Formats: sequence, structure tokens, C-alpha cells
Amino acid sequence: TQYLDRIEALNPQLNAFITVDRARTLADAAAADAARAAGNAGLLTGVPMVHKDIFCQQGWKTSCGSKMLDNFISPYNAHVVEQCNAAGLITLGRANMDEFAMGSSNENSYYGAVKNPWDLNAIPGGSSGGSAAAVAARLTPVATATDTGGSIRQPASHCGVTGIKPTYGVVSRYGMVAYASSLDQGGPIAQTAEDCALMLNVMAGFDERDSTSLERAREDYTRELNQPLAGLRVGLPREYFADGLDGDVAKVIEDAVAELKKQGAQVVDISLPNTELSIPAYYVIAPAEASTNLSRYDGVRYGHRAAEYKDLVDMYEKTRAEGFGAEVKRRILVGSYVLSHGYYDAYYLKAQKIRRLIANDFTAAFAQCDVILGPVAPTAAFNIGEKSGDPVQMYLSDIYTLSVNLAGLPGMSVPAGFDRQGRPVGLQIIGNYFGEAKMLNVAHQFQ
Ligand code: GLN
Repeated sequence: TQYLDRIEALNPQLNAFITVDRARTLADAAAADAARAAGNAGLLTGVPMVHKDIFCQQGWKTSCGSKMLDNFISPYNAHVVEQCNAAGLITLGRANMDEFAMGSSNENSYYGAVKNPWDLNAIPGGSSGGSAAAVAARLTPVATATDTGGSIRQPASHCGVTGIKPTYGVVSRYGMVAYASSLDQGGPIAQTAEDCALMLNVMAGFDERDSTSLERAREDYTRELNQPLAGLRVGLPREYFADGLDGDVAKVIEDAVAELKKQGAQVVDISLPNTELSIPAYYVIAPAEASTNLSRYDGVRYGHRAAEYKDLVDMYEKTRAEGFGAEVKRRILVGSYVLSHGYYDAYYLKAQKIRRLIANDFTAAFAQCDVILGPVAPTAAFNIGEKSGDPVQMYLSDIYTLSVNLAGLPGMSVPAGFDRQGRPVGLQIIGNYFGEAKMLNVAHQFQ
């Protein structure tokens, strides 16, 4: 009840939750207590948590931040939710998010903008802004989140908390509302790398219901937390410290690198030459996949349906016009355009080729280093409303996070300092495929 009371007191200002169900949470807590009394408790039994409103959870509204799914009560659990339940974690509520995970500021939610607990005028980052804000404000110790182009790392950075996006395929996408399926990946947000590792132990795992889920032996992500860093080769990509990076953010990152050097890490200058192209490539591929994924919201199967219509086509049109917000419509239009006959080769195919070049850049870089370090975003959190009128400015702020998803690599953000306004700045750690334990080891040194 301590957390529920805190949510009740602070959420009206933060708007980090879409749904809270006190009675249900208390019932789950009672069940966890009973399990403990019966000697059936695991490490995390009874630990409270929050799910991003993108994970289907049986009996809970799963809106994905959209009016389209405002009336959708999920009849089943996502694989991630199943595993959290099996571990005995208790759900405190469902975190606010950008509609269908499209956004970098959490201003695109049907349920209103989320505020940054460090400064209520600032955005918390997106799209997992509700998860990050809830952890930062101590409304929950841990939360689930998803990252298609930075949505775990960027809000974690802006809210001064820790988040990890695993290698693509480590966490099952079953029951996770699809945005861009070849990029979407679930992961935890928590206060520390250690808590992230414990949560990843629960969330990861093979699931045959996701065709891209990887069949690998389970690993313990806490196993390397306390390894010494001596001899670790840390790559700094030139392109991440070029024009456009805020001076305060650069300083925080430089100080963090100096700290690792003190611990025996060896710094290597590397290059990721196609970094700039990650923005156009991502903003072709992600909308293309979104335009097909979102075609299922037709007013027939589930979700919103327009109240009045003439015929079937009119019903589709009115339903989608009413159910989707402006940013979602923009993505569907862009996605349909780049996939259409005559433009496919010029845009979609080209973007796929760039995607390959970006992945190759990382392969070359990881021949020289063990982890890559850099900023998560060009600036600390900006003000609410500052970029919401200019989608291109908003997209440009994703420059350091998108290529990790395009390559399918793991990436994380760990709190590293503050800018002059007192807004948190995260350090991004990018690992090679399945390098999560090593990244968590590096992150753990800051905590
Ligand atoms: N900001 C990016 C977008 O709007 C990334 C979002 C995400 O990772 N879900 O698509």
C-alpha cells in the first residue's frame, strides 16, 4: 500500500499511469504473502512493478496510449507478463506512453503528456515516459518498457534512471502491441543496473509464439556485475561527439569515460560512419512496418468503432480517423507511401540497404572494442511543447539511439550526471550481440 498511496498522491501531477486498480493489486499482494507463508517465495515474490501499457495483461485495459484501444481489456497475457507473474511480481498499474510507442517526448498519448519528476516543465522522454517517470519518482521500484528506436534508453536518460534494451530476439514480442516488428524489443527500467539485471532474468527467454524469439540457454544477467574493468576496451564513436551535441551532455559523458579509465578501461577511437543515415533509414522502415501492423485496427475485430457510418468503407474511415492521433496518422501515411508501387525501390529498399551498412559499421567497430560509449540524446530533457510542433526536430533528437535498433544490438542508459539546469543525463552503453552482462558490468560501476 505504500506504493499505491504514493501513486495516489503524486500521479495527478506526473500522469505516469493510465490505469491503477488498487483492489486488484492488493489481491495480488495477498496472494504473494500467502505464497511466502507457504514457503513458495522466489527472490522477487511480492516485489511491486509497473507494466508499460503496450504489454497485454489479462483483465487489464491495454490501451497502448491510444483512443483506438481505450475500450480494450486484454483477454490474455504477453510472454513478459506471464514470466513476471510466475516470478511473483505484483502489478501496481499500467504506465502511460506515446500512442503506439511513437514519440520521443511522451506528448503523443491519448491520455495526456507525462511530466518529468525532476522538473515538471520538462518532458520525461518517450515513448516509455510513464515507466521512466514512475521509477524516477519512486512510484515503483521497476517497470517494463519497450525500445523500437530508443524508447527505453532515452526516457531512462531524461529521468535519471537505468534502462536496458536487450539484443533483438532476447525478450519475446508475444503480446506486446506491435509498432515496427523488426525493431521492437522489450526490456526493464529500474533505479540500478543490478535491478535491471534481475528483471531481465525474468523477462528474457525463448518463446515459440514469437517467430523472432531466440532459442538460447537462459543466462544470469547479474553474473558479471562486479567484474573488474581492467583491460576493457571502450570505443568512443567520433560521430557521436560531433556537431549537435550539447556541451553539458558532452562534459558528463567525458567525465564518465574518465572514471572508467581510472578503473583500468582502455579508450579506443572508433568510427560509425553511417550514423547520420540512421534517421532517414529508421523513419522509412519504422513507419513502413507500422503502416502494416496498424491495419488491424479496422473497427471490426477489437477496439474503437465509429458510432455512425453508411457502409463498410465509411466505417473503416471514420473509425481510423477518430481512433488514431496525429503522429500515428503521419506514420501510417509515410509508411504507406514508401511501400507503394513506384516508390518502394527509392525509399524502402534503399533504407534496408542503409540498415545493412549501419550493422556493418558496428561489426567493424566491435573488432576494436568490447563496448561502445556515448550520449543517449543530444540534449537533456527539453521543455514540454518545445518540439511538439515540429516532427523533424523531434526525429533528429533520436540520432544516437536509432542505429542500435537497426543493427539489433543491445543498448542501455545509466545515470551519469546533470546538465546546468539540473536535468539528468544518461551515459549510453552499446554492447555487441548478447553483450548484456558486460554492459551491466560497466553500468554497475556508476552505482
Ligand atoms: N522516437 C522513436 C519513434 O518515435 C522511437 C520510439 C520507440 O523506441 N518506441 O519512433
